[in-house]
Amino acid sequence: MTSPQHAKWIRLGMQWHLARPLVALRDRLRTYGYTVYDLGDTRHLDHIPPEDHTPYSETGWPGTTPYGWVTAIDIMPPPNNSLPSLQALGGQIFGDREADLDEVSWLKYMNWGPVNNSTAKHDQWQPNHVRSSSTDVGHIHLSSRSDVTQSTVGDSYDPVARLRGEDSEMSSKEVNDIVNLLIGGFSTAGYADQDSDPLNDAAAKMNLNILSGKLDQVIKILGQLGAGQPPASSGAPVDIATVVAALKSDEGQAAIRAATYPASFQAAQDAEKS
Ligand SMILES: [Zn+2]
Repeated sequence: MTSPQHAKWIRLGMQWHLARPLVALRDRLRTYGYTVYDLGDTRHLDHIPPEDHTPYSETGWPGTTPYGWVTAIDIMPPPNNSLPSLQALGGQIFGDREADLDEVSWLKYMNWGPVNNSTAKHDQWQPNHVRSSSTDVGHIHLSSRSDVTQSTVGDSYDPVARLRGEDSEMSSKEVNDIVNLLIGGFSTAGYADQDSDPLNDAAAKMNLNILSGKLDQVIKILGQLGAGQPPASSGAPVDIATVVAALKSDEGQAAIRAATYPASFQAAQDAEKS
């Protein structure tokens, strides 16, 4: 039986958007390989009262959810065991919310199984944390607050990376290591004096400018070497240790040289030799 709220939404053209923090998390988790649902099926759409999987929720908090906005997602069990279980993932999200992490401050409540996928708890923060039991089993349900539909606060939240201990922020030492390795590969291509200290060498600094123009190629090489996905396009975390190892390898240094060594320079050198 179609509910009056559902019927009205159909009449108005069935437009809907997902709250921004949930879009960010949904897309990130889908990139990892999780199945994530947002807009509910007819069972949700006709439920009285309509809840957060509908674009006309009547259970918004702390205010009324703006019309047309869906404020919930369901994360299904991972397709394989290379991804964190729902217990591990839920535990990370729960812990981050309990720790008042800004990036997950949009979370109103979650239903999840801390022990297994056939039992569930309801953890809510409205605004104080209260735990109760739940019958919403088999997935992680996340509901956002009503006042964060366009908030950017969760844009970079990545519970999987946090769980794996990967930090998307590179330390200045890591940046230095990578720059030195890149300059190393570059200078042996013939641009800079190999004996000089690359960071203090004017030629090397100039090379760095040229190198930045070649960054797309370098990122592509890193992908080919299996060192991680290009960070800018996918938002997936990169394991810095793996990147450094790949850059250090003979294969990596050769690939950098090949990518950064212009054909005209190569031709000039060849001409000199012959
Ligand atoms: Zn749900």
